[in-house]
Formats: sequence, structure tokens, C-alpha cells
Amino acid sequence: MSVSMSLVQGGAAGGAPQGASAILAAAAPYYQPPAVPQDVQPDRPIGYGAFGVVWAVTDPRDGRRVALKKLPNVFQSLVSSKRVFRELKMLCFFKHENVLSALDILQPPHLDFFQEIYVITELLQSDLHKIIVSPQHLSADHIKVFLYQILRGLKYLHSARILHRDIKPGNLLVNSNCVLKICDFGLARVEEPDQAKHMTQEVVTQYYRAPEILMGARHYSSAVDVWSVGCIFGELLGRRILFQAQNPVQQLELITELLGTPTMEDMRHACEGARTHMLRRAPKPPSFSVLYTLSSHATHEAVHLLCQMLVFDPDKRISVTDALAHPYLDEGRLRYHSCMCKCCFTTSAGMRQYTADFEPSAGQPFDDLWERKLTSVQQVKEEMHKFIAEQLQTGRVPLCINPQSAAFKSFASSTVAHPSELPPSPHQWE
Ligand SMILES: [Zn+2]
Repeated sequence: MSVSMSLVQGGAAGGAPQGASAILAAAAPYYQPPAVPQDVQPDRPIGYGAFGVVWAVTDPRDGRRVALKKLPNVFQSLVSSKRVFRELKMLCFFKHENVLSALDILQPPHLDFFQEIYVITELLQSDLHKIIVSPQHLSADHIKVFLYQILRGLKYLHSARILHRDIKPGNLLVNSNCVLKICDFGLARVEEPDQAKHMTQEVVTQYYRAPEILMGARHYSSAVDVWSVGCIFGELLGRRILFQAQNPVQQLELITELLGTPTMEDMRHACEGARTHMLRRAPKPPSFSVLYTLSSHATHEAVHLLCQMLVFDPDKRISVTDALAHPYLDEGRLRYHSCMCKCCFTTSAGMRQYTADFEPSAGQPFDDLWERKLTSVQQVKEEMHKFIAEQLQTGRVPLCINPQSAAFKSFASSTVAHPSELPPSPHQWE
């Protein structure tokens, strides 16, 4: 299994050289940019995250195509500024092949003019949503290697005590070699160990939302991300959204059609109103055999793993680490580490040297204690300004925005998070 996987075509060839129209500029006035490659493409928007706009741009220092994300309206409120600071810190903290991280941050202006933050990340050509809805053929090997990488990245996040809380196909970026990276940490937060503490329910795009959140649980765990992965696994197999409902109540309805009516024990995290609603419905038997009809790739092994992810009770749902140990993922692991990863290498004699740890954890948990010490927008602003200055790599020319660029004008005015992309509000159970 030495042949590299490929799926997505690279970006469109050609395009006008951008010159002065490019968004990014090197900050140092004496800096001489290298010769611009012939196939430079114009800067263009590529997507909208929950809280930011992303553009494909060219790094003037080396002509490399990168993704530029604007984190706008940072200092509107204490909540929004802390959320952006958290996302920024996470992007700088991550060091994992299947998790998107910051390559650079643009040099901020003087503190008095500091309003927006721009982060540069690696540019990946596509995402799992685009691939699933495209006519491209998806083999059983594709599904295995995608699922393996989602779980591998998620294991790292969960080991750092981070809940992503918005795992969906559009947040799983994929490059032309099928390498996958989890992105968009706008809704991510550190796990709350205190069961008595309330957590927001304004999370997770509805189709991928775990039943405990749909049923108004005040506290939830990393199991919400595993549920989302189960939904995506089913979507990869069937090439359509597994539970596609119009509203949260119907969403729950579709879930119980597959899983059967949950027991009282399974609903112990749910709020009273949601439990009463469920008990009023006619009891339904489970219908897991439907999963075999998703596609010819829905083998016994695939369905066996899928059923352990789609478990109503979050405490009985499989963990990411246990899911990675499932035999269904053995081939995906072998393929990934044979020709796609950066942790193993091939010697000059053609021998593959494998890493000691195929699915590494984070060396340490992500620390969020700093958040509690911040009590005003101005304080967050000063801390963030300091943090960015510390991150700017010494010896590398810092980047800044080229305000003269025509592309920047449309970038600056692009709206953030189309309303349809934001998760709908949770249902108010009586
Ligand atoms: Zn490897």
C-alpha cells in the first residue's frame, strides 16, 4: 500500500498575477519579495466559519498559497473578545497533522487601532462536505482513511481536554492527497469537569447534534463530538445526511426512529420537559438493520463501529480512543502511515520506519485559567496584543494587510457567518 491516495483536483490553473492587488504585504519596507511564480491565483474568498471569513491568498515572502482568516468584531463584548482570544490561543497551541493550526498572525497595528485579527493557516483545497455532495467516487478505502484521520485529530483535541462542539463535514478540510484536518474552533472550549455547571446549548449544527444536547442537558462531555463523527460516518457511507430534520424536535424523532425509544436511564441527562415529551410518544423499536442499506461499503465491521458511536446515552457511547482500536480502522491506519503522514518516513533503502505512537495525545491539556482573570474588554485587548507580539516569529519578516489592494476592500466588507450557517437555537422544552 505505497500508492498515495488522491481525490481532489488542485485549484484552477492560471490566473492573473496579482501585484498590488494582493491582500498580504510584507511589513518591513526594505523587504524584497521573491520572484512571483507564474501560476499565481488571485486572492478570493473560500468560506465562512461560525465566526470568521476565510480567504485564499498568496504569502508574498515565498509565493505560497495560504488561508487568511479574519476574526472580526473581536472587541464588541467581553464574551466575544474572550471567545476570539481562546480560538487564537488554541490555533497557536495545536501541533497535530489532523488539526489545523496557525502558521502566522498578521502584525497588529498600535493598540489604539487594534480592532481585527488576521490568522494565516495552511490552505486545503476542499472539505468533506464538498466531497460528499460532489459526484466524485468514494471508495471504502477513502471512507476508512477519512474516518481514521477525524478520530486521530479528535483524540488529540480530547486529550488536551478540548471539546470541538461543531464537528461537521464542512469543518473537516481535505487536501488533494486526502489528508484531513479539523478546523474552526469558534465554538470549541475546555471540558467542564464540574457537572453542576451549566454549558451553552447553542452549539453543534443541528444535523450533527447529540441527543443529550437536543434534550436540553445542562452539562455534556466529549461524547457530543463522537456523536457528530457517527453522523458523518453514516453520511460518508450513504452520501447523504444521516438525520436531516427541519427542527430540533424532528431531529430527535429521526434519531429515535433508528435507535428506538430510549430508556429512562438513557435519558437521565435530559431536562424534564424533553423526557416528558419522549414518554408521550408511542414507543419505537430500534431499526439498526437500516444502516446496512446505506451502501455496499456498510459492512458488518462498519455498522458495528457506527452503532457504538450512535448510542443515545453519552456515558455508553464509545470514546475516540476505543473507536480507534476498532478493527474497522486498521486499514485506514496502515494506509495513512504508509504514505500520507509526516510522523513516519521511508529510508533511502526503501524501508518504512513507523512512528512509536500512531495516534499521539497532546503533551499537556489546554489551559483556560487565564480566561477567568480577564474581566474587561480593554484588558483582553491588551493581553491579546501582547500575545500576538510574542507569537510573531523572530527572523521572519512579519506580514500585514495591504489596505490598497482591491481584493482587501471586498474582504474587509464580507459579512461574517451567514445566518444559515449558524446553529439554530435549541428547542425550549416546557
Ligand atoms: Zn506516521
